[in-house]
Amino acid sequence: MAFDLIESSDNHHFIVFTDSLSSLLALKGHELKHPSVTALREAYSNLVRLQKSVMDVTNIYLPHTDYRPKINGFVKSKWEELWDAFPENKLYQVKPRAGTGGHRAAPSKRRDDIVLARAYIGHTYLTHAYLLHGEERPYCIPCDCAVTVIHILVDCHEYSHIRQKYYAVPDLKTLLERTDFSLILGFLKESRLYRNF
Ligand SMILES: [Zn+2]
Repeated sequence: MAFDLIESSDNHHFIVFTDSLSSLLALKGHELKHPSVTALREAYSNLVRLQKSVMDVTNIYLPHTDYRPKINGFVKSKWEELWDAFPENKLYQVKPRAGTGGHRAAPSKRRDDIVLARAYIGHTYLTHAYLLHGEERPYCIPCDCAVTVIHILVDCHEYSHIRQKYYAVPDLKTLLERTDFSLILGFLKESRLYRNF
C-alpha cells in the first residue's frame, strides 16, 4: 500500500516506516519465497525505475512518541473534515469543532456517563427505542410535538416545574456547555427519565 501511494504521488523522496520484518528482509535481498514478498520486490523495483527515491533499508529505533503529535494532528484534521461534512448531525449544533472541549470533565459514574453521552448525541432509549421495536414515534401530547432530547431537556412543559429547580436555559447548546452536569442528571432523576434515557 505504501508503494502504491508513492507511485501515485508527485513527490520524489520518501521514507517508509514498517514493522514488517519479512518486508524489510525481502527488500534487503533475502530469499523469501512468498507471493506477497515477490510482489513487494517488484513494486520496489518499479519505484526505482520511476526514480522515486526510497531510503536504504535500515533497522533503526524510532520512539513512537516522536511521531505521536504528528499522527494526532493528522487524525484530528481528518476527523475535522468528516465532521464539517455533516453539519446537520445533531452533535454539530452543540459541538461545532470536533475533538475540542465540548464534553467537559466527565462524572465518574458509568451510567451518568452514558446518560450524558446520549444527551450529546441526541439518541436515547426514550426517544429512539421505537425504531428497535417497530412502534410509533413517541409523542408528547401536552406539548403536541415529537419527544426528542431537546424537548425533554429544554422545552417540555410537562417537566418544567422540575426542570426549573435545576436549571433554566434557552437551548441545548447552553445546557450542555454551561450547565453543571450534576444538575442535568438531577433533573433527569427527579423526573424519572434517567432510567430510560
Ligand atoms: Zn412535552
